[in-house]
Amino acid sequence: MMTIGIIGAGTMGSGIAQVASKSGCHVILFDKNPKALEQAKVNNEKNLRRFLKREKKTEDELNALFNTINYSENIEVFKDADFCIEAIIENLEIKQKIFKELESIVSKDCILASNTSSLSIASIASALEYPERCLGVHFFNPAIMMPLVEIIPAVQTDNAVFERVFEMIKGWHKTVVKAKDTPGFIVNRVARPFYGEALRILEEGIANVPTIDWAMSKLGKFRMGPFQLMDFIGNDVNYTVTETVFKSFYYDPRYKPSFTQKRLAEAGYLGQKSGKGFYNYKDKTANPAPTKDEVLGYHILNRILVMLINEAADALHLNIASAKDIELAMTKGVNYPKGLLTWANERGLQWCEKIMDDLYDMYREDRYRCSPIIRKLNAENKGFDI
Ligand code: NAD
Repeated sequence: MMTIGIIGAGTMGSGIAQVASKSGCHVILFDKNPKALEQAKVNNEKNLRRFLKREKKTEDELNALFNTINYSENIEVFKDADFCIEAIIENLEIKQKIFKELESIVSKDCILASNTSSLSIASIASALEYPERCLGVHFFNPAIMMPLVEIIPAVQTDNAVFERVFEMIKGWHKTVVKAKDTPGFIVNRVARPFYGEALRILEEGIANVPTIDWAMSKLGKFRMGPFQLMDFIGNDVNYTVTETVFKSFYYDPRYKPSFTQKRLAEAGYLGQKSGKGFYNYKDKTANPAPTKDEVLGYHILNRILVMLINEAADALHLNIASAKDIELAMTKGVNYPKGLLTWANERGLQWCEKIMDDLYDMYREDRYRCSPIIRKLNAENKGFDI
């Protein structure tokens, strides 16, 4: 039985513990905060019970499974771990410190991974004496439900370590994709326009919040509209991810954050968790109805969709991931109704190029530059090879 060490028993750490334990691993969950460990135990048992309901396990079998997860406030427990995944606070110095500490405890063969969403894996690995054993393993929330895991080798990572972890996480019944160690990896990069372009449309007064959400969910078949999703994620969290990606891309205007969302976060209008965000959750009657005008709705959908397609195309152009992995990432990591490159092929790359160029002509902003790969494939009369 493999021993998996998890550092940080918050939302992600406990979710990853559930995934590893139901896949037959012995799990050690460590946190410096005893309250977090207590809460993780409650959440783990509740979520595993709910997730395994259909398998009709007996109470004894469930208890045996719960007992495969051990909880500890002492980092020394990792001395026999085969593989450790860190899921603590998103702060480079604190992560580097814990990786150094871990390395002084674990065996030389123990693989060390980070679940970071936005920090570079190379910078985390640089804290280690043996950085070739380190890589990124990025789960999505809730980890037990979301099938996708992005696996990110750093420049220092030994390829054998990458291959081993890739196969191991696949064995945990996850959809694994390989991503380059660049800001936002695949999902958090390609998804930026879903929020950013929706906010831009709102700021320009083209449509209000419920109308944009209606267009994306009803006409585009996205599971949630962008504002519903931002309120669900939390405007503080979503704004910070956008700002981090923007800064990490040397202020590329394509990733520019929005003042509208920043002000909501500053005001404490964080979304569902605070009762108010783009929508009012305490008094639903205060929310305006959408304008269900299909001409306006398709204009909104096409503009956001083409920006998403352009971002996915550019990720392919820059070899962030393969076409197949970009499609898997967006359908399995954020439940998009269709892969963006497949969608581009269906709409036609001529259509994509024209809408991007129309937007560029109107705004003259670098934000709306068409990815060279779309122009190149168009010139060759080809679509994306997925
Ligand atoms: P969280 O705040 O829910 O949990 C973090 C836990 O780490 C807390 O229990 C805290 O007590 C513990 N912790 C902090 N510093 C510690 C230290 N020095 N030693 C031991 N424990 C420590 O955070 P989260 O949402 O689970 O995020 C964890 C990581 O996963 C972050 O790097 C985040 O970017 C990443 N991530 C988050 C999500 C998400 O949707 N929440 C998704 C993917 C990745």
